[in-house]
Amino acid sequence: MTQSGQNYWSPERWRFLLVVFSGVLGGAISGYWQASFIVALLVYIVWLLYKLQQLHSWLEQGGKITHTPDNNGIWERITYHILNTKKQSTIRKQRMSSLLKRFQGIITSLPYATVVLNGKNEIDWANKTSSSLLRLNLKTDRGQRIENLFRVPKLHKLLEKNKQKEIEISSPYNPQIKLAIQLIPIEKDLKLLIARDISERVHLQEMRKNFIANASHELRTPLTVIAGYLEIMHADEALPDSLRIAVESASEQSSRMQDIIEDLLTLSRLENSELNENRLTEINVAQIVETLCSNEQSLDENAHKLIKQLDHSLMIKGNELEITSVCANLIHNAIRYTPAGTKINIIWRENRQGEAVFTVADKGEGIGPEHISHLTERFYRVDKGRSRDAGGTGLGLAIVQHIMQRHGGRLYIQSRLGQGSTFSAIFPQNFTVRRSSKESSTVA
Ligand code: ADP
Repeated sequence: MTQSGQNYWSPERWRFLLVVFSGVLGGAISGYWQASFIVALLVYIVWLLYKLQQLHSWLEQGGKITHTPDNNGIWERITYHILNTKKQSTIRKQRMSSLLKRFQGIITSLPYATVVLNGKNEIDWANKTSSSLLRLNLKTDRGQRIENLFRVPKLHKLLEKNKQKEIEISSPYNPQIKLAIQLIPIEKDLKLLIARDISERVHLQEMRKNFIANASHELRTPLTVIAGYLEIMHADEALPDSLRIAVESASEQSSRMQDIIEDLLTLSRLENSELNENRLTEINVAQIVETLCSNEQSLDENAHKLIKQLDHSLMIKGNELEITSVCANLIHNAIRYTPAGTKINIIWRENRQGEAVFTVADKGEGIGPEHISHLTERFYRVDKGRSRDAGGTGLGLAIVQHIMQRHGGRLYIQSRLGQGSTFSAIFPQNFTVRRSSKESSTVA
């Protein structure tokens, strides 16, 4: 098959010339020109049809190289092209299937359960770990909707939202086993569901949480007793002056320890219980902020100017004690960490996305960018000495962060050194409620 494309037509040209020549010859001998040309052309067409039929039956039999029709010219070339295309496609198929095998091998040996779902959440494929971790059996479960196999509301919500997200659930087959389930939408009709066993991590976390809760609880009673005795000693007029300073200092430290323990207990309460959505009440945040501001104002020796801009018609659904704690912490911090007499803006309003936002913006020293992401960590303080002097526990923002997460919201912190800080507690749209409209803007 080394002839150029042009030469392949050469036998065909010769054949055609032969047809014409036969027509001329037949016409010259018989005197019937038209008929002899028609007969010659018919013979040629029959021959072409025969060649086509040969090619067709060869292709129908699988187009094997060992059974190629005995051809020359353009027919040989067509056969060659067909064989070549077939060969390329076989190579491609082999490459794809080896790639697929390797890919399946990798996914199969992953320590995570991996399930491939289609657009209707029906199981298309699952790896080996899925049978042990999720008790999936591909033979019987292929084509089944995953929601029908796992009646777990959290998982149903995850599938409904169809966004890349991770949730933690207890295994429906064994509550002792904790699973982290991640959904990865790939295409419209293709998504991956990955499940990991996180029982050990959860168990360690539980141990840590329980330890902190138990230790705080155990320390609370003796500390209350010590604080009580110190108070009695301090009130005793017969107490010598040499001891008074020591008793005052011990009393101050014990009250600091009591604050820390109370905050630790609050944190562990928040960590150990889920927000009960059926017990949420409608909260008038503007009213709470008004009360907090007047309380702070009466205690604030440094007379900060609290400028309030509160939307009284904007309410949220939530736990009132927790929301009060968020507002109190942010207002208190602004007063605690800004110089005397400076302005503090306190805003409660709805943003463009329909989220309810509580903002406290101060004109204090601000916080360096390297500290911002750590502020919600327990006991993280930019200036330890200053926080202690101001009576801080280092747990306030950690509590705020937890409460916001429980309410589906987030805490957003912006700050610039020398310019001040803005703390915004943002509540999602589905937690907001509108009542009769009334907006207040006051300076205290
Ligand atoms: P603390 O009890 O120490 O106030 P928080 O968790 O409430 O603990 O705050 C953590 C740290 O964040 C504080 O120690 C302080 O350094 C910093 N911080 C919080 N609010 C402000 C603010 N408005 N301006 C400057 N720094 C702040």
